[in-house]
Amino acid sequence: MPADYHTHTPLCRHAVGEPEAFVDAAVAAGLTEYGISDHAPQIPEPFDDWRMSVAELPDYFRWIERARAHAMGRIPVRTGLECDWLTGCEPWIADLASRHEWDYLIGSVHYLGEWDFDNPKWLGRWAESDVEAVWSHYWATYAKMADSGLFDILGHPDLVKKFAHIPPGDLDRFYEPAIDAIAAAGGVIELNSAGWHKPCAEAYPALRFLELACSAGIGLVISSDAHAPGEVGREFSRAIDLAKAAGYRETILFDRRERRSEALI
Ligand code: ZN
Ligand code: FE
Ligand code: FE
Ligand code: ZN
Repeated sequence: MPADYHTHTPLCRHAVGEPEAFVDAAVAAGLTEYGISDHAPQIPEPFDDWRMSVAELPDYFRWIERARAHAMGRIPVRTGLECDWLTGCEPWIADLASRHEWDYLIGSVHYLGEWDFDNPKWLGRWAESDVEAVWSHYWATYAKMADSGLFDILGHPDLVKKFAHIPPGDLDRFYEPAIDAIAAAGGVIELNSAGWHKPCAEAYPALRFLELACSAGIGLVISSDAHAPGEVGREFSRAIDLAKAAGYRETILFDRRERRSEALI
């Protein structure tokens, strides 16, 4: 099984489980590597209620060290973060990047302006939104994140579909500019299996996006976005089938922000 680099810890206040239980789940799933990428601190604080604070970063590193100690060489344990792409965030991302020898940083678009659109508390706001306009804003934001070149992995590419608000017609008009930006910046995307368990009932991204990404030579990782031990490596067989259907034959591994690839099996 590939590595699973997108997993959370209780420090984000909406995940559960001890590091030992996450490691045991990763080993049981037969993963190549287990990577931890909790929601990164964001300034100014307090920013929102679903991430660790800056002061909790040492607790985060201790949590990861507990995982590594428990793994005892059974599986490599990688250190990452899931960072939020926000307007003007570049200096803060650079600051975070300098604070540790990370194996990778994931960039995610969870915010459009002040709106954390993937938060279930906003279902009412979605119902009143112009879906076409939200999608345009989302994909333009995603392309800017790719352009920044600050992230090793670009998270859940079409997260904007989470609550199944999808514009009619061919979605290539949204996908193509993002694909061009990701390819030009040499970005790697993730195939995130959590989407199968959300109202959209599809992995992030959709097959069509994966096909375009593969054709453009964009690298891929497969991830679960686990917020509990039982979700580590969730639906990876199904995700591998989807990646292969899109043309992928390998996934990317990260070690101290260096890449190598392994066959997709
Ligand atoms: Zn989360
Ligand atoms: Fe996310
Ligand atoms: Fe996540
Ligand atoms: Zn995520």
